[in-house]
Formats: sequence, C-alpha cells, structure tokens
Amino acid sequence: MLQEMVEVIQEGEENGNNMAIRLKLPSGVEIIGLPTENFYVKEWDLGPTWNYLVLGDQPFLVDTGKFGMGQKLLKMMESAGVSGNELEFIVLSHGHEDHDGGLFEIVESTRAKVKAHRIYDRLIRFYPTEAPADVNKNFPASCWHCFMPESFSNQHCLGYHQERNRLKIEQIGDGHCKIGKTIHTYHVPGHSPDALAILVGGEALIVGDTVLPQITPFPSREAFFDQVREILKPQNTQAQSIYGLRAYIRSLKKLEQIGRRFTDLLVLPAHRLFHNNHWNEINLQLRINELIEHHIDRCADILKILKQGPKTARQIAAAHFEEPLLKGFGIMMAENEILSHCELLSASKDVFLAGDTGFGATGSSHFESLIQSLEAE
Ligand SMILES: [Zn+2]
Ligand SMILES: [Zn+2]
Repeated sequence: MLQEMVEVIQEGEENGNNMAIRLKLPSGVEIIGLPTENFYVKEWDLGPTWNYLVLGDQPFLVDTGKFGMGQKLLKMMESAGVSGNELEFIVLSHGHEDHDGGLFEIVESTRAKVKAHRIYDRLIRFYPTEAPADVNKNFPASCWHCFMPESFSNQHCLGYHQERNRLKIEQIGDGHCKIGKTIHTYHVPGHSPDALAILVGGEALIVGDTVLPQITPFPSREAFFDQVREILKPQNTQAQSIYGLRAYIRSLKKLEQIGRRFTDLLVLPAHRLFHNNHWNEINLQLRINELIEHHIDRCADILKILKQGPKTARQIAAAHFEEPLLKGFGIMMAENEILSHCELLSASKDVFLAGDTGFGATGSSHFESLIQSLEAE
C-alpha cells in the first residue's frame, strides 16, 4: 500500500535524509513526510526522524526533529508548499530529543500551539527543590535517570532543556482522546512514558518510536518511576503502567487492537520508513507479533545466561549483545535494555536479586505466560 501511495516530491539520500514525500489518503487528506537528519553513533543509528505534516481540516505537524532542526524543517515544509503560518498545532509522539528538539524554534516562528501528553508537560519542567538527592537537580525531571556524565549534559543538552521549559503545552490525557475533527490520540507508554500514537481518520496511524521497522525500540525501565513519583502525582501511581517492558507490551497490544478495528491502516513510523533505498511498509499485526517475540527471546536468552550462576546486568549484556554494540556509550544502552528485561523477569519470579547489583535465575520460566497475559488497557 505504501509503495503505491507514496509520491516522492524531493529526492534524498539512501537512508531518507533530505527526502520529502506525499501520501494521499483515500479520504483526500494528505500527509507530507519530512525526514530530518538524526545521527548518534554508527552502531545505534536509527536513521532520520520522520516528521509528518497532516493536511486535513486543520494542518498540523507530528514531531519536529532533533535539536537545531526547527528552521530546516520549516524550510522543508515551505518547499512542499505549506507555510509555517498555516500550522494550527504540533503534536508530539513523545518527549525524546530527536522528536521535540526542533519544537521551540518552530513555535517561536509560527505561533503554532503544542499538544503533548500530560506526562510530557510534567517531565520537561525543572524542580530544583523537589528533586531526589541522588539526581542532577539542575536538569528537568525527564533527565533524572540519564546515564550521561554531567560534563556532557551541561555542554550538549542544557540549552535544549531550557528552551523546552519555556513551552506552553496543551495537555493530552490518557487512553483515547480527540484532538481534531477526525484525529485521535492513544496513550502508548513504554518506550517513553508520554508516548502517543496518532490516528488520522481511521486511515493512517502515526506510531512514533513505539513500532519501528527493522529495529526494536528500546523499552524504558520501571525503576525510572521512583525518581519522578512525586512529579507525576496524583494521576500516575504505578511504575509498571507507564514505564518498562510490561507497559510497552501492553501498548503494543493496544495498537494491535486499533489495527484490528481499522483494517488497511497505513502505519507511519518515526524512523526507517525508507532505508537503504528501500521502503519499509509495516503490517501492524505482523510487526507487533515480531516485536513481542523478540522480547520473549531476549528474556529466554537472559535466563540461559544466568543458568551458570548470578551475574550483573553488565555481565549479561556482554554475554547477550554482539561486540560492536557494546562500544562507548553502547554498553550503557545495552545494560539498560537488560535491566528492563530483568524487571519483567523479576515480576514473573524467574529472576531474583543477587546482592546489590546482580541477578540470579530461580529455575522457573513464567515470563512467557506473563507476557501473553498482559492486556491492553
Ligand atoms: Zn524515542
Ligand atoms: Zn526516535
């Protein structure tokens, strides 16, 4: 469906950088795909951020690329025939820097309103007096779990966070909300606690980083909730409903339900829509099954590694991941991924805490039935 629908209005690079595309939905609504450059390190390269401009009754933009990309994105919009002044609002798929980095710049030059999940509005703020003692209180609540060294954050991130803190947000609630005549949002936490999927008229589903082709989105960790518990009160009181692998799998199941209600949905991910000169069409049911299988396999592999005795997350990561993924900051991302799976394995009682930082296998393997029993909320 994607391949027949897509009209390339600007050719770009083989990974999609600098491309512009037009998708005409059967109802006549048009979606312009505008991928902006996004490069971290080679081994963990996600490819550009695909921002989507939806041209229905009220023109709006989903996501704004990484920090520094705002003006570039506005120019890309203009080249596609839409001026920034026509934008009614911008809605965020979630609060990661490769999605909201260009937001402030665009708001400054267009006065478009900003809509995002309520949790986003809480986490982008600074709480110098309420921050727990063991976190960097000079940064917003979204950063309290960050593993990057303070010197790095002060140099690379502070400006972005200070700008973000000046934004006025129209809060989107939990569950299912209407934000336009035929536009609905669904709260799909897990990759990020504030993640949203945006349904355009029952024809297209913009899924952010929750479902990606080729790569598996990393889940957050339930442990992150402990630091922001006070900030998210009173609406959110349970870690596992917005953070971690259990929340993520529930959200996948929610998306699967939407896919069953609206057949022939065009699924638009925030990365890798086009990669290596190839379009990646997503079949929602199939891709969600693959992602759930992937996490089941990873849990099984962790238990296998723990058969020889208790290990720390770092040791498990070293045994589980391929060497190139463990280079530089890669080891921390890998460790994070393992910790997220160990949280689920602890909940299913297949893993016990060994000492302060280690995990051991209890000998059971209930995780698969736990994963199967998780229900879309
Ligand atoms: Zn993300
Ligand atoms: Zn992303």
